[in-house]
Amino acid sequence: MKIIMLGAPGAGKGTQAIRIAAEYQIPHISTGDIFRSNIKNGTELGKKARAYMDQGLLVPDELTVDLVMDRLDQDDAKKGYILDGFPRTIPQAKALEKALQERGDKLDYAIDIEVPDENIVDRMSGRRACTGCGATYHIKFQPSAKGALCEICGEPLSIREDDLPETVQKRLDVYHSQTQPLIDFYKERDILRSVDGTKHVDEVFADISAILEA
Ligand code: ADP
Ligand code: AMP
Repeated sequence: MKIIMLGAPGAGKGTQAIRIAAEYQIPHISTGDIFRSNIKNGTELGKKARAYMDQGLLVPDELTVDLVMDRLDQDDAKKGYILDGFPRTIPQAKALEKALQERGDKLDYAIDIEVPDENIVDRMSGRRACTGCGATYHIKFQPSAKGALCEICGEPLSIREDDLPETVQKRLDVYHSQTQPLIDFYKERDILRSVDGTKHVDEVFADISAILEA
């Protein structure tokens, strides 16, 4: 199963991708997580990516596309994967399509999680991320059973730097101008499936599972 997740920042792509990856035993590949891990480790890529991420801008395609293609060529991605946060631009989507065609391969589904902008601001202001394993919580909608610590690894939770209110609006603008056109791109390829992302996390997961099992 080869799936991509679409949706505004904060729509719940990561939350659902982790569950789908566990259910289907496929790797969850998040470009945001890859960039954050590079920032944490002080790599050259991390330094370059951070300059864009902190401003709510997209990291340039030339830094992003090769990174993802290398990841998809790893052994664990042979049987499938769930891509979260990639593609985010039409050139990225075209590069992915071309690379897959060259391998005689294609995507099965593009799942779009629909959440109106009004809800996104609440989602992002309450998001907390584990500084250890990257797991995501929400102070109101998905609190950690261990309070300010991660349920999974026990490390402290923190607010993502790009979730500050002034950056959130910029990220939403960038989403509408650069990423939303992918909805039509995948609709034309007949693999777009949309779910109502305003429902409870478990209901959204059930709706996505029903699509994947159809
Ligand atoms: P994305 O990966 O699309 O940026 P996340 O999965 O990190 O989004 O979710 C953003 C925030 O919203 C997190 O704090 C998460 O706990 C919360 N969240 C995710 N799905 C839902 C949902 N269906 N209802 C309420 N809150 C949710
Ligand atoms: P995310 O964790 O998916 O919300 O991504 C956080 C940030 O990482 C984004 O706001 C971008 O700056 C950057 N990023 C993640 N994925 C991509 C991508 N496919 N293309 C460009 N920038 C990306």
